[in-house]
Amino acid sequence: MARNAPKATTLTVLRTEVVAEHFVRVVLGGAGFDEFEPRAETDSYVKIELASGGDTVLRTYTIRRVDRAAKEIWIDFVVHGDEGVAGPWARSVQPGTDVTVRGPGAGYLPDPAADFHLLAGDETAVPAIAVALETLPADATGAVFVEVAGPGDELGLVRPAGVSLTWLHRGVAAGDAGPDLTEGNAPLVAAVEALPWPGGDVQVFVHGEAETVMKHLRPYLRTDRGVPASRASISGYWRRGRTEEGFRVWKRDLAEAEAV
Ligand SMILES: Cc1cc2nc3c(=O)[nH]c(=O)nc-3n(C[C@H](O)[C@H](O)[C@H](O)COP(=O)(O)OP(=O)(O)OC[C@H]3O[C@@H](n4cnc5c(N)ncnc54)[C@H](O)[C@@H]3O)c2cc1C
Repeated sequence: MARNAPKATTLTVLRTEVVAEHFVRVVLGGAGFDEFEPRAETDSYVKIELASGGDTVLRTYTIRRVDRAAKEIWIDFVVHGDEGVAGPWARSVQPGTDVTVRGPGAGYLPDPAADFHLLAGDETAVPAIAVALETLPADATGAVFVEVAGPGDELGLVRPAGVSLTWLHRGVAAGDAGPDLTEGNAPLVAAVEALPWPGGDVQVFVHGEAETVMKHLRPYLRTDRGVPASRASISGYWRRGRTEEGFRVWKRDLAEAEAV
């Protein structure tokens, strides 16, 4: 049976805000707001329809906040240079522009019953991590590791007192990082592996550059630390050197290779 296509909602850009050195927040609303059906999960995302060279492409972005009172939907875009479609769009889009989003989809909700919450990612995971931290109960314990270019990208993240937050500075923007800072050498990998393992029921949320996450952090957490699939939300959010279309092919190839 064919799966239903994700619901499409047309929203209007209300304003944009530079919220950190490499982050632009696009605030959406307008007549379509009431048709948008938010989800309870903290990593909910939409596929945004954007024009690219006469075609329409889809780019995937996390819903940072739905403000029902103000009728606003926030999306925080990493501005990663002149390459690509969505990054440059967020940097230059003007209020009044209509944009169609499909979804939201979602996959992760912190369980208040977990003993420990480990959240880790690069810039692209910051919006989802921020939402998760706002959802955790006040007595939650855990650790958060976020890899960004430098201090200019340290967004204020509200979190429970028992959850530590470590910003890891790559020293360069994600797109400029060479082999000494990527994949297994990404600062995020060393930091997560250095965390004294808390034991008990650990729930993990780990997302970011695909090779770093899927080839290094995932085996460490799932195999070495034995985190069960039911407690692990781990995936790549983008792939260095590939557009989102190329990244979809990478994901399919990886899934096929793992199925053998
Ligand atoms: C579920 C999910 C949620 C996501 N949420 C967010 C979010 O909230 N905010 C966000 O910014 N991103 C998010 N992403 C990642 C985003 O979809 C990708 O970064 C996407 O490729 C950006 O599209 P683009 O058109 O700017 O670049 P593309 O056309 O896809 O790629 C062009 C070039 O830019 C490079 N590139 C792409 N993204 C980055 C980056 N972040 N840093 C450096 N180089 C990059 C590519 O490797 C490629 O070489 C999410 C992804 C998923 C799957």
